[in-house]
Amino acid sequence: MTTYVYDFIEGSREMAGLLGGKGADLAEMARMGLPVPPGFTVTTEACRVFLATGAPPEGLDDEIARHLAALERAAGRRLGQVDDPLLLSVRSGARYTMPGMMDTVLDIGLNDLAVLGLGKTPERERFAWDSYRRLVQMFGSTVMGVDSALFEALIGDLEREHEAADDSRLDTVDMIRLVESFKDLIAERTGEEFPQDPAEQLRRTVLAVFSSWNGERARTHRRREHIPEDLGTAVCIQSMVFGNLGPDSGSGVAFTRDPATGRPGVYGEYLSNAQGEDVVAGIRNTVPLQRLADLDPGSYKELGAHMARLEGRYQDMCDIEFTIERGKLWMLRTRVGKRTAEAAFGIAAQLADEGLISPSQALDRVDGDALAHLMSPRFDTSAPDVGEVVARGVPASPGAAVGAVVFDSAEAVRRAGAGEQVVLVGQETTPDDLPGMIAAQAVLTARGGKTSHAAVVARRMGKVCVCGAGGITVDLARRCLTTADGVTLTEGTVVSVDGTQGVVRLGAVPLAESEVTQYFEAGGRAPEDEARQIVHDVHRLMALADSARRLEVRADADTPEDAARARRFGARGIGLCRTEHMFLGERRPLVEAVILAGTDAGRTRALAALMPLQREDFTGILEAMDGLPVTVRLLDPPLHEFLPDRTELAVRIAREEAADRTPAARDRELLAAVERMHESNPLLGLRGARLGLVVPGLVAMQVRALAEAVVARKRAGGDPRAEIMVPLVNDARELRLVRDEVDAVLADVSEESGIALDCPVGTVIELPRAALTAGRIARDAHFFCLGTNLLTQTTWGCSRDDAEAAFFPTYQDRGVFERSPFETIDREGVGRLVEIAVAEGRASRPDLTIGVCGEHGGDPASVHFFHAAGLDYVSCSPFRVPVARLEAGRAALSPSSADSSA
Ligand code: PEP
Ligand code: MG
Repeated sequence: MTTYVYDFIEGSREMAGLLGGKGADLAEMARMGLPVPPGFTVTTEACRVFLATGAPPEGLDDEIARHLAALERAAGRRLGQVDDPLLLSVRSGARYTMPGMMDTVLDIGLNDLAVLGLGKTPERERFAWDSYRRLVQMFGSTVMGVDSALFEALIGDLEREHEAADDSRLDTVDMIRLVESFKDLIAERTGEEFPQDPAEQLRRTVLAVFSSWNGERARTHRRREHIPEDLGTAVCIQSMVFGNLGPDSGSGVAFTRDPATGRPGVYGEYLSNAQGEDVVAGIRNTVPLQRLADLDPGSYKELGAHMARLEGRYQDMCDIEFTIERGKLWMLRTRVGKRTAEAAFGIAAQLADEGLISPSQALDRVDGDALAHLMSPRFDTSAPDVGEVVARGVPASPGAAVGAVVFDSAEAVRRAGAGEQVVLVGQETTPDDLPGMIAAQAVLTARGGKTSHAAVVARRMGKVCVCGAGGITVDLARRCLTTADGVTLTEGTVVSVDGTQGVVRLGAVPLAESEVTQYFEAGGRAPEDEARQIVHDVHRLMALADSARRLEVRADADTPEDAARARRFGARGIGLCRTEHMFLGERRPLVEAVILAGTDAGRTRALAALMPLQREDFTGILEAMDGLPVTVRLLDPPLHEFLPDRTELAVRIAREEAADRTPAARDRELLAAVERMHESNPLLGLRGARLGLVVPGLVAMQVRALAEAVVARKRAGGDPRAEIMVPLVNDARELRLVRDEVDAVLADVSEESGIALDCPVGTVIELPRAALTAGRIARDAHFFCLGTNLLTQTTWGCSRDDAEAAFFPTYQDRGVFERSPFETIDREGVGRLVEIAVAEGRASRPDLTIGVCGEHGGDPASVHFFHAAGLDYVSCSPFRVPVARLEAGRAALSPSSADSSA
């Protein structure tokens, strides 16, 4: 029989899939003998049964009852008993943390009678009614579905009454009044009374946690974090301990290292006489954790010892929640802590240096997204007119962002949708603000510390955040904020938020390059001692990745400047040099001349005019990449893409005719050509190899330009390694025909110059048929490059730009896919074709080199797939090269990542 409930002591941290992250970590602490309030966990499997069938699994109620009875026996108190009742907290806990996604219900077990027992002594009266108030409020909103704002409004009414009377603290009578008005509110909104039976409270809360898996907030979060839809959540049921029993009680959060920088040391916040929720909500201002050393030296010391043990056990920075009830320390949860990108690199490098973790564990602790974040720019405050500082607060999530202030989530989403950059401003944030936080560049709050909702969520998303900016007043009704100096900023005012310094400035401050980017720009050499620590840490991890990886990293570049940058960033060649950009700008008339040429001789003349320009382009690029491969793709897009816009031409001609003038003959010719060459679907039109076979001389011109560039570089003493790549090949015979022409030109130039030319010729595999017939194609190809942009479009049967606008958002909402297949390779479909191309290509030519040149080459999860698929290299934009290097190293050290990272 399946077990659906585990006592904490029965689990371990390896069981996160079944017990959820929270349940597994509680179990681990209980096992280690740390003071964890006793409890048990209902498994994710029970949740999955509920989600699949709409009912809890058979026997679940009995199992819960058995574990509850054991808990009651151990505590010597029963749920719902009139005198000093046992109270429970019920929390959701999925496999992956989903902050604020699923609500907690505290103080389960209280009812109209038990509240009297709990508050039987005068000093406990207010506490008891406050606890009951919290239960009715949380149960009412989370379980019974009453809008939580309505409860807050009732509290607000009462507070305003008190402000008028100059007595802002709500007393016992107020709490009793709140309980009554909350119960009335529930009855009025749901037609049901707040349940008095503790067993019913518990049962309904467990089911509500199950259901919340499919709540709007949870779904939004999963989509963003690419968490599978079918995992389900576990439910942790635990005896309550209270941090709000007076000055010798309190709650806090602690990190075993600074989560912003990774440096060791005690780091956290404490709030005396408060429940954990009060700390996280940022409603009252906390004190630094070090203050606890004075307030309660015994608990402080004990906490320090537990923290050290936890860090040792997890071999990583831990994030801890604790409560002190009347001088007794209780550990409420722990987990491997969320950290900034800087801290991720810092912690990994330090622990590896200390020999606590292996190189592969160190690489496992960082990722390409964190590196990309470190490479993003920061503010250049040395610029002449940086705006004045309008707010200072807690530097909660680092980085630099500029945007217009907005005062609610909906406005943030609206403006961001219109292309504006925005900064979401509020007193604090709640999970309901998630869409706005996703849309915003940065978040600014007036209240809360580094562990407030705003801070935690922003850090996870890599968004800039300053919180607890105490000097500012936010006026939601007038949609403005007032600074400490009395300056009012209305909605839409542009500000610059510096999440590293915790400073907000008026206007758009110019951005400066990050030190990490500068390090790469300087060629990634070992940094000077005085360089910032983060540069040393990045250098350390890049070295680990480079020595581990099997995949080579090349770059997509089509100018000497990009090629040089790519090389500084660590690219070992160019995987894709697109030649179409060389046909634009002032060269357009020359391309037009090729298209308009009425005779072979005319076309030959027009192509000859283009040739020297192409040769110059190639010479510069080969020089920048001297000694490394440069893969030049022959012209790919249809020629009509180089012609002027049809409407523009037609209007110009019509205007001339209307004014009784003769339109320019060239305009007429161009319009005729545009109309003649029009394609309903250029994506699948006359392009790539097709173009080379239909337009005589085009391939020869490009190949000659490249071959002569190679000759020029060799004569200059260089080591050019040009490769020629034929795009959009669908059938082996197409490639054979193009190659005949390529080989002939190479032979000609070799003979003319007396210099041997050894240029590999390969093809882009970007059509399903090409992948399926790769074995035959490989007979004539020295290399394959997988063009996964077009391969994804042709496999899915859609064009990217149209699909992303038209139906992808709906598909993501409705779960057809979690990530766009254009961002992360679709392993099942496109990936399968890649595997076929690799297997059949290598079967017919064992030394076939295979790379990828689609956008996927710089996407972390896709890099792991390409590693597993046995490719030789990935090619990506120069700025993504460090990310690809890092991920290629991670992929090499973590064989399982091939299955788990997408
Ligand atoms: C591709 O299709 O994957 C590719 C690299 O081509 P494009 O230049 O169209 O991005
Ligand atoms: Mg393409």
